[in-house]
Amino acid sequence: MLKTIQIFALILTAAIISACSQTQSSTTSSNESETKYVMVIHGGAGTILKSTMTPEKEAAYTAALTKALETGYAAIKEGKSSLDAVEATIHILEDSPLFNAGKGAVFTNEGKNEMDAAIMDGSNLKAGSVAGVTIIRNPISAARAVMEKSEHVMMAGAGAEKFAKQAGLTIVDPAYFFTQDRWDGLQRAIKDDSTKSVLDHGNKKSYKSESQNVDNKFGTVGCVALDSKGNLAAGTSTGGMTNKKFGRIGDAPIIGSGTYANNATAAISCTGWGEFYIRSVVAHDISALMEYKGLSVAEASQIALDKMAKLGGNGGLIALDKNGKMAMPFNTAGMYRGTITADGKIEVLIYK
Ligand code: ASP
Repeated sequence: MLKTIQIFALILTAAIISACSQTQSSTTSSNESETKYVMVIHGGAGTILKSTMTPEKEAAYTAALTKALETGYAAIKEGKSSLDAVEATIHILEDSPLFNAGKGAVFTNEGKNEMDAAIMDGSNLKAGSVAGVTIIRNPISAARAVMEKSEHVMMAGAGAEKFAKQAGLTIVDPAYFFTQDRWDGLQRAIKDDSTKSVLDHGNKKSYKSESQNVDNKFGTVGCVALDSKGNLAAGTSTGGMTNKKFGRIGDAPIIGSGTYANNATAAISCTGWGEFYIRSVVAHDISALMEYKGLSVAEASQIALDKMAKLGGNGGLIALDKNGKMAMPFNTAGMYRGTITADGKIEVLIYK
């Protein structure tokens, strides 16, 4: 009799424990599924410290990132494609002098602005990119034109510019891209070490040491979006690295390195020391880990970032999967970043 009671008590305890754990896991998954992101953006990663930021600058960055998110969100809400949302969002960031893309692009060693950009459509794996362009106001639109209006994926330099003109894009004088801040940045980089290219947005006071340990800010911009049809898209636009050698091309326009999108996995945009992102093929690595190993977007993003960091690189990335789950890891002090959920909740973050 005593044994029967003991067995009954054991069964009862096991049943209670199992019921509790089921409640817990269903609570967790319902909480997780509640947050569905439709867009994630970045404005570069690096040595972004609260201690060296002024309240005015912080407010300006927050306002620009918020405006970019609102613009892309409006496109998605109107039923436009994720590609439209990515392009419209990146226009806002390219037109702002705050970011190292379009208007705020950094200078090469020769004192020029040479920009790279890429866009990818996750629904059909079509992609377009431009590299080393100097007169196209919005390089992201040139990348899209290459994808949609040419039989190619990547076009560079004068050829890409001729094509952009034919596609009817806005062409500007190279002087449009002059900003005093970036020019001063080039002078500091040259003074520091004329042979080394420098990642963007160095803090002026500690510029010398920063350009040597290459842990500056990277002001590249990127956007990943998920539209109402469930299609993913990714875009990245950049001026590259301050004092870069003439003709140097970074990871942003290289499909699979700085930019990638696949409806089966995720849309990804990277920012950081481009050479390492190229060698690690970071964006495609994330997609492959998800596709072949079934990893979550968060797990895959962290593994790919760590692998790149092991080679000696630094930076960050944003990734959004087909279910609206996102990741935005970085191994620098900060990364300008922002998210918007399906119900329009905006979050903008700068520091770790
Ligand atoms: N990844 C860019 C490049 O190397 C730089 C950046 O992210 O700011 O061109």
